[in-house]
Amino acid sequence: MDSDLLALTHTGDEYDKYLNAVVPPVFLNSLHLFKTFEEYCNVNVFEEDQFIYGRDSNPTVHILERKVAQLENGVRGVAFSSGMAACSAAIMGICSSGSHIICMKDVYQPVKRLLNQVCVPRFQMEVTYVTGTDLEEIERAVRPSTALMILESPATFIFRVIDLSAVTAIAKKHGIKTYIDNTCLTPLFQKPLELGVDIVMHTISKYIGGHSDIIGGILVSKDEGLMRKIMSEMREWFGGILGPMEGWLAIRGLRTLQARLRQHQETAMEIAAYLEKHEKVKKVNYTGLSSHPQADIIKKQQKGHTSLMSFELDTTPEKAVTFINHLQLFGKGCSWGGFESLALCPLYKAGQEELDFLGVDRGLIRLYCGLEGTENLLEDLEGAFRSI
Ligand SMILES: *Cc1c(COP(=O)(O)O)cnc(C)c1O
Repeated sequence: MDSDLLALTHTGDEYDKYLNAVVPPVFLNSLHLFKTFEEYCNVNVFEEDQFIYGRDSNPTVHILERKVAQLENGVRGVAFSSGMAACSAAIMGICSSGSHIICMKDVYQPVKRLLNQVCVPRFQMEVTYVTGTDLEEIERAVRPSTALMILESPATFIFRVIDLSAVTAIAKKHGIKTYIDNTCLTPLFQKPLELGVDIVMHTISKYIGGHSDIIGGILVSKDEGLMRKIMSEMREWFGGILGPMEGWLAIRGLRTLQARLRQHQETAMEIAAYLEKHEKVKKVNYTGLSSHPQADIIKKQQKGHTSLMSFELDTTPEKAVTFINHLQLFGKGCSWGGFESLALCPLYKAGQEELDFLGVDRGLIRLYCGLEGTENLLEDLEGAFRSI
């Protein structure tokens, strides 16, 4: 039996509990009542079906947490009001003032801003940025005060991957916790906890929500103690729980996740192959192509591919802007993971150091392939190629 598909579709149904409703309700309540004061005093919000106040936990949100925890083979999920709220809770939950963090250079940009502009100057943390692909470089970066490694695989921009088993082995040897942003692949295509990662983050705003209508995030781990700490200190006291309506929409998103991802992947594969063959394209970065320089690692740890990719045109960065402006179906906007295709030049204003590190020019185009249909999207790209 494929337990992933059962988690997506049926975990948390519990018809008896919800008057046989096929879909569990949205619990839009801020508190729960008790028969006696003693009963109220005895509630433990870490236990199943024990709820006190909506900032601690919520029954609808908890169904989502159970589903994602099951999908990642973790013991517990804790959902937040955004991916960044989940990410910052993990960093603050694991690190203290003075902690050293090893972070990959090409992680989601706001994470680097949080580290550089808040954690370092305000909490005296230290950060060493590494490529993530050079194991010796990671080993050299370790210090006695290293508390956390921040990973993302595949990473934004050129979809570099990290050998997760190898990197987590180094971390374990030194007693360092590892965090990964697994948003790109979802638990269906990569299960980092199985590869030794300590805590996984998913932005619900992307594939899990899937319809560009919610913002949310979730953390999952096998470490019960860590998750209890994150749930109380980081969620209850900082106060960033996911809203019940968002939780309900995320549960709805999960029910169709596998079907959507399959289609996203199929479309992305065809588009990547088309771009790779195109005479006006210099290079395509996509984990599904056999030309990806780390194809071996990808095969070892991924079960599928995102529908995000990037490519460079064989012309000036200005022409890349002309190109995306001529796209009709690919909307110009940030984010991704919904039904609609998107295109951007995410590094158009990047500094030279970052461009050199990635080995690209500022005309790099990022495509997110949505659900408008492969033929339609190919036709759209064809039209944009005619404009340059
Ligand atoms: C969007 C995104 C985030 C941030 O999620 P929010 O819900 O917007 O806070 C983090 N990581 C990746 C890979 C993302 O694409």
